[in-house]
Amino acid sequence: MAKLTIRDLNVRGKRVFLRVDYNVPLEEKDGQMVITDDTRIKETLPTLKMLIEQGGKLILAAHLGRPKGQREPSMSLRPVAARLAEMLGRPVAFVDDCIGEKVEKTVGLLKEGDVLLLENVRYYNEEEKNDPAFAEKLAKVADVYVNDAFGAAHRAHASTEGVARVVAKRGGKCAAGLLMERELKFLGDELENPARPFVVILGGAKVSDKIKVIDRLLEKADTILIGGAMAYTFKLAQGFKIGKSLVEPDKTDVAKAALEKAKQRGVQFLIPTDNIVATPVVTDKLNKKGKPVIDLNDPRTNTDKNIPDNEEGVDIGPASAETFSKAIAGAKTILWNGPMGIFEDKRFAAGTNAVAQAVVEATQKNGAKSIIGGGDSVKALNKAKLGDKVTFMSTGGGASLEFLEGVELPGVAALSDK
Ligand code: AMP
Repeated sequence: MAKLTIRDLNVRGKRVFLRVDYNVPLEEKDGQMVITDDTRIKETLPTLKMLIEQGGKLILAAHLGRPKGQREPSMSLRPVAARLAEMLGRPVAFVDDCIGEKVEKTVGLLKEGDVLLLENVRYYNEEEKNDPAFAEKLAKVADVYVNDAFGAAHRAHASTEGVARVVAKRGGKCAAGLLMERELKFLGDELENPARPFVVILGGAKVSDKIKVIDRLLEKADTILIGGAMAYTFKLAQGFKIGKSLVEPDKTDVAKAALEKAKQRGVQFLIPTDNIVATPVVTDKLNKKGKPVIDLNDPRTNTDKNIPDNEEGVDIGPASAETFSKAIAGAKTILWNGPMGIFEDKRFAAGTNAVAQAVVEATQKNGAKSIIGGGDSVKALNKAKLGDKVTFMSTGGGASLEFLEGVELPGVAALSDK
């Protein structure tokens, strides 16, 4: 890896400013905010343990939710400090600010191996603006900067980018944590020269979100499998009827260009040949956003390449699931991003589950490297209890996609070169 990691550092006695991704889901229970999923905290433990062992004085910074520059009590990181202390098995100090005298005083009291969590950096508008003066204030307590927040690395904010620049300018080191290192290894290095065949599976809602990724992977993959609503834009581009399916009609030219590029480069590019369809019916109920809830009634398998006018494609069909599974079975490297259908509804999860199963089998039987590029595919694998049976699951959503597009993430660019 081209960037410095914490393995290259000696932080004994130094103040380590560590940016982590503790944007955990919280729920109010009896007037208290309770963490409902602590995966993000757990993911940072190896980095914390290594830095504690090395004798660093750890100052952790993170954001939680979108408080928009206000001290929004429901978005305080205080409950995270308590949970982290339990998980680490040692005390974690907390200061209800991320800059200023109180922070400096507490940091002054830290001993080697001590851990301090600062309050939500987004209580200040300057964080998202990457305000240089604010970055200077954060950097006041930093000898070394470590970034382990891959999920926030696509944003050039003060705690992900600005503070690293200040530390580097002073001659301090800026390094990747172990989680960040793994993300860069699997989404980056491993896909640079993948073992072949390299099979890419893409799904989810929109072609527009993933077209840059498709374009880049067309230069690397042997096979690309397209599922989810994305497939309907490709179907429309090929002249098929897609009924009431979710589609981006203004992206058919982009889809056509991808199909053409696949042909030119000899990349096998598969779009579902059959689909699960359902009839959308607008109800009187309103969803959280105040929009009418649409029921999807009478699901059935549609084997025709055209989808009837009043029906909506909601999942890949069984024949497509089988074709996709066969392609996956022969793979040596697999990258998967995005579900094959509306998997949140178990009536439309079969396609996504079949792909998940095929990915796991290729990993276990074939020794394939299976890399799950974040977001809903991770949710789908966890839901099917298969999360620990793939090689790597990214913790990033937007960050993973941007990284796969080949964009240099600001939070990574700011780290010191080896
Ligand atoms: P993305 O964030 O782009 O990976 O999209 C994930 C979302 O795509 C999930 O919430 C799925 O429910 C949705 N999705 C997948 N297939 C379809 C489909 N055929 N129609 C509508 N939404 C879909």
